[in-house]
Amino acid sequence: MTAKTLYIKAQKEKHGTLPGTSGRVRCAFFRFSLLFSIIPLFLCLFSACRKSAQLSSEIYAMDTYMELKAYGGEAEDLLEKAEKEIFRLERLFSATSAESELYRLNLSGSGAVSPELAEIISVSLALSRKTGGAFDPSVRPLLRLWGFTEDEFRVPSEAGIAAALERVGAERISADGTEVLLNGCELDLGGIAKGYAADRFAGIAAESLCGGAFANLGGMICAAGTKPGGEPWRVALQSPLGEGYAAVLSVSNVCISTSGAYQRFFESGGKRYHHIIDPSTGFPAESDLLSATVIDESGCFADAVSTALFVMGEDASAKFCRQNGVCAILITEDMRLLCLGGAENFLEEVSGETFTLCIG
Ligand code: AMP
Ligand code: MG
Repeated sequence: MTAKTLYIKAQKEKHGTLPGTSGRVRCAFFRFSLLFSIIPLFLCLFSACRKSAQLSSEIYAMDTYMELKAYGGEAEDLLEKAEKEIFRLERLFSATSAESELYRLNLSGSGAVSPELAEIISVSLALSRKTGGAFDPSVRPLLRLWGFTEDEFRVPSEAGIAAALERVGAERISADGTEVLLNGCELDLGGIAKGYAADRFAGIAAESLCGGAFANLGGMICAAGTKPGGEPWRVALQSPLGEGYAAVLSVSNVCISTSGAYQRFFESGGKRYHHIIDPSTGFPAESDLLSATVIDESGCFADAVSTALFVMGEDASAKFCRQNGVCAILITEDMRLLCLGGAENFLEEVSGETFTLCIG
């Protein structure tokens, strides 16, 4: 399977699996030719291939299709643990499920929460400060107003936006240990929860003796360790223009998050409205970027910062990445693929017909 198909497969909603269920496929890589019919050599190759046998599973969680892969002896165990963990995190962090801990916090407005919910809230608040509020987990009233929480899209009135903006502002939220005070705000962790899940996936992979693990959590990639044999993972960066890829990256031990207007949107009156809200205006971000990708060891950081970079647009993003040493790939409206913070070192291939490589 090429890196391109590997990435795009999880993006397409053509999967047979139903929400909340998983399918597991054992993939065999035993391609032998007549050349290998000498018996001792055959046995040798057979045992080598067994070691790198790959298991994969597909689940629907956190409102997206996810694909998990693992190689080697403990692969099955790893996938089982990872699936359970992702569903567990969904039950904690969903803003829309009445069963979730976050939902209860949003209803009550304050109180003691589990250490894990407290942790992701604290990290979100810190990254909101770091990004000057471009990443703001308190945009929920705006998301609801635009219909992004329930898929009932509409263009709200200016008055509606102004009223919702009154209830947005992460700086008003406090988290002291496990005590959280929302101060009239509501939280939506959609811009960071998949990053948290990617970090947990990496943790489970590190504890396992499996020969390598990889997850595509709806566009949030976790390339845990390396491929069997120490080879880096090849990851295709989806083209924001549609099907196909903009670049192929060669990575190990990192998370990669991409945010873009093309991921979720609706059209009204000939205009496109997407799901990444500019907290300073209450409208979908008028970004001059088609997508923003962040490569980092921390999934939470990559996820939140890619959302923020998309909101900031090219100039502010480039400045932010230079100042903070962020490794990022920005795809601009004029079809440049701008590498920052050494991201060019991960590039294996750029779709040169469409995008011009720039290193900034
Ligand atoms: P991502 O796909 O990681 O860029 O995150 C987009 C999701 O994050 C949206 O579907 C919302 O749930 C949430 N979101 C939208 N705008 C923002 C924002 N400015 N800051 C934080 N989260 C946001
Ligand atoms: Mg994000």
